[in-house]
Amino acid sequence: MSTTPEGDSPVSLPQSEAEWKDRLTPEQHYILREKGTERAFSGEYWQTKAPGTYQCAGCGQGLFESNAKFDSGSGWPSFYKPTAPDRVQTTADNSHMMQRTEVLCSHCGGHLGHVFNDGPQPTGLRYCINSAALKHCAQDPANDKPA
Ligand code: FE
Repeated sequence: MSTTPEGDSPVSLPQSEAEWKDRLTPEQHYILREKGTERAFSGEYWQTKAPGTYQCAGCGQGLFESNAKFDSGSGWPSFYKPTAPDRVQTTADNSHMMQRTEVLCSHCGGHLGHVFNDGPQPTGLRYCINSAALKHCAQDPANDKPA
């Protein structure tokens, strides 16, 4: 695991949708694999301020850090940047008669949420992410990269 980027707990990816269903809760599957959206103010993390890393609930890749989380008032966990640019991918989403930019996990391709241009500085971005797509991990010295 010494080559693993900090904040990651990657696991091997399922090879079939049946395996994904096995691994994920119904709520996680609905968000990550079916591009669903949880109801605002209903998820586990929209109010969370605890320090740590938010990993992908599908694959364990570290996606967002608590120090980039802000209270957007939207009812979803909101971040102004990912842990690193290559942790997420974005793609145009013109569903539901809206023009939005979808945010996906770059490792497993799971749907995370959307990114908007009305966030705070320094980026001006608002990554609006479903709680069910995330797993919060408190920073644990035991998980630090070896020197
Ligand atoms: Fe993932």
